[in-house]
Amino acid sequence: MSDLAGQPEPRIISVANQKGGVGKTTTAVNLAAALAEKGYRILLLDLDPQGNASTGLGIGPDRRKDTTYDVLSRDVSITKGMQPTNVENLWIIPSTTDLSSADIDFMDRKDRIFLLRSALSFDEAWKEAIDLVLIDCPPSLNLLTLNAMVASNSLLVPLQSEFFALEGLSQLMLTVREIRSSANPDLRIEGVVMTMFDGRNRLAQQVDFDARDTLGDLVFKTVIPRNVRLSEAPSFSMSVLQYDGQSRGAQSYRALAAELIGRRDAAQNPIQEGVA
Ligand code: ADP
Ligand code: MG
Repeated sequence: MSDLAGQPEPRIISVANQKGGVGKTTTAVNLAAALAEKGYRILLLDLDPQGNASTGLGIGPDRRKDTTYDVLSRDVSITKGMQPTNVENLWIIPSTTDLSSADIDFMDRKDRIFLLRSALSFDEAWKEAIDLVLIDCPPSLNLLTLNAMVASNSLLVPLQSEFFALEGLSQLMLTVREIRSSANPDLRIEGVVMTMFDGRNRLAQQVDFDARDTLGDLVFKTVIPRNVRLSEAPSFSMSVLQYDGQSRGAQSYRALAAELIGRRDAAQNPIQEGVA
């Protein structure tokens, strides 16, 4: 266990928003790559049956023998399931469409919202190799997302800079409160990140203003711009940092990584330690 080496436990952050298409997967993959570039050892858990994070990092169907479904059902440990990507310091446990039946498959289990937390604590060897876990959640408040919330220290919420962005957030927060009052009292909101921002669009500016007005410091200063490189990178099986490291998309995810690390002082921020 990493405690023995004087290291804190790896921090676990879920990228969650029950709306689809708001930039969860893009954020999970590229924030993971940006943190990895800074020297943090990152494990990305693909908890979306669509497997977009897996595909985007070049883990095709032939490399999905051990998956997050196997991890949830305890057929495979985290340590065995994690596989390297073509990004240095970045490992992934991929998903397959099997995961879409998780709600039904695990329905009768009393511990059904604790499956991921149990898997993460059952096998501790992986903690020696990883500084931070990012979980890419599906676009729904289903059993998989609940498992992610129960297993996480915090949630990172991407908000698309368009009308209705703030709608749905209240439902997410309600679920967070329920999880806090039961399974995971310490669950925090890591922050809200505005995505697909188009500075020329006055509506986008208004949404950004409203979000900061309502949520205050919870909103990251870093804004992710709408950038075509971000949408192209996955089809080349790369993060945007590999695909076009100088693009605005790449720069913005580097900035988000820096803000995430620097946000709180070292005493409160377990991932700041132990990294060059
Ligand atoms: P989610 O995981 O929330 O469903 P995705 O990350 O898959 O959302 O993003 C939805 C679509 O928008 C994808 O095609 C993605 O490539 C594209 N996209 C996401 N963020 C950006 C951005 N900042 N600029 C341009 N395209 C983006
Ligand atoms: Mg997604």
